Amino acid sequence: MRRTISLLSLVLIITGFTHAQVKTVPEYIEQVQAISNRADLKTANDYIDRNHAEILREWIALTEINAPSGHEQQRAKYIETLLRAYHLDDIHYDSAGNLVAVRKGTGGGPMIVFDAHMDTVFQPGLQIKATVREGKVYAPGIGDDTRNVEALLATIRALNDAKIKTKGDLVFVFTVEEETTFKGVSTYVNENKAKITHYVALDGGYEGFTYAGIGINWYRHHFIGPGGHTRSRTPPYSATLPLARAIERIYQLPVPTTPSSNLNIGMLGGSEVVNAKAADAWFTVDLRSTSNDVLADLESKIKAIVDEEATKAGMTVKTDVISKSSAASIPGHRESYLIRMSEAVHRVMGFDPPITNAGSNNGNVALLAGISAISTGAGPCDGSHSLAENCEIEPIYKGIKKIVLLEVALAGETK
Ligand SMILES: [Zn+2]
Repeated sequence: MRRTISLLSLVLIITGFTHAQVKTVPEYIEQVQAISNRADLKTANDYIDRNHAEILREWIALTEINAPSGHEQQRAKYIETLLRAYHLDDIHYDSAGNLVAVRKGTGGGPMIVFDAHMDTVFQPGLQIKATVREGKVYAPGIGDDTRNVEALLATIRALNDAKIKTKGDLVFVFTVEEETTFKGVSTYVNENKAKITHYVALDGGYEGFTYAGIGINWYRHHFIGPGGHTRSRTPPYSATLPLARAIERIYQLPVPTTPSSNLNIGMLGGSEVVNAKAADAWFTVDLRSTSNDVLADLESKIKAIVDEEATKAGMTVKTDVISKSSAASIPGHRESYLIRMSEAVHRVMGFDPPITNAGSNNGNVALLAGISAISTGAGPCDGSHSLAENCEIEPIYKGIKKIVLLEVALAGETK
């Protein structure tokens, strides 16, 4: 009994110590409510409401400057020209080509980074022309991620118009190459890691946010056999036989829901003609999880199945790793200051936020560097990465107000 009590109190001391700085969500809600009741916050919101047409016009203008990954300069220049009029403390390009703008605080506060990526997935030379109909705006890239580029610009104007001073520095980073290699965010995080208190990646999202990055591994497994005409001696069979057996077995593998994980076999192929046995039959695997252990475990189980079925059929295996990105999570992050404060901001804005551990964007890179990070966004959109991409117009104004509140809540407070 004694032993139990002392152990228990030890646990309480330890947990009490680590969480001493972090308040409960209702406490943060009270804090955020007080911020949102301030006269200067109301002025900032009024500014956004007065400028709906201007925000939409600028959002479209930005979107119509296509910015394929690695070719962001023209769009960056346009953003830079806008930023120059905002009387910020520092505007510069870093070594990767990210455009960085600093709105200094009064001092002694945290450094809060808000990013949005400038690049799109569309090919160079694509002419983009936005159209507005039935409350939506249509254009490739309008949502991913131009809605959030525009949201950042609008929040800076709103903060300035309301003469809002924060304690900490707000650093706005317009990144390059999010869609391909994460080169922009990697460079920025690498060069500023020690200074960043919290990182907010604006990409997708509206009502909710994510606090961890999902790991995504893509593979193409090939079964290599002798092939031959339909009428050639059987066995050996077509390489499609071990492929079919393997897929059947892979789909019987238990895929955990906690931690959130997914497995999909989306593509397959074999012989080019009907009357030949496939000498090379292949299928793809899309493996996702918020746990690197789950990814590693499923990867090795799939490899074992593929190898066994190949051996049974007298064939060999060749595996291409199409791409691999690690899951990014920080132990205890769900109960940390940033996540609880972000939840409070969303609740004060009237959202019942889905809070998930499955983002896949610039925020992952910050998390992998050990920086407390979330990802969220300014408005609901559809059809990202397609020519039919579109966003609802009206919600973005509320989304921008949410980001203003998040900026002030995070940069104004230290715990
Ligand atoms: Zn994106």
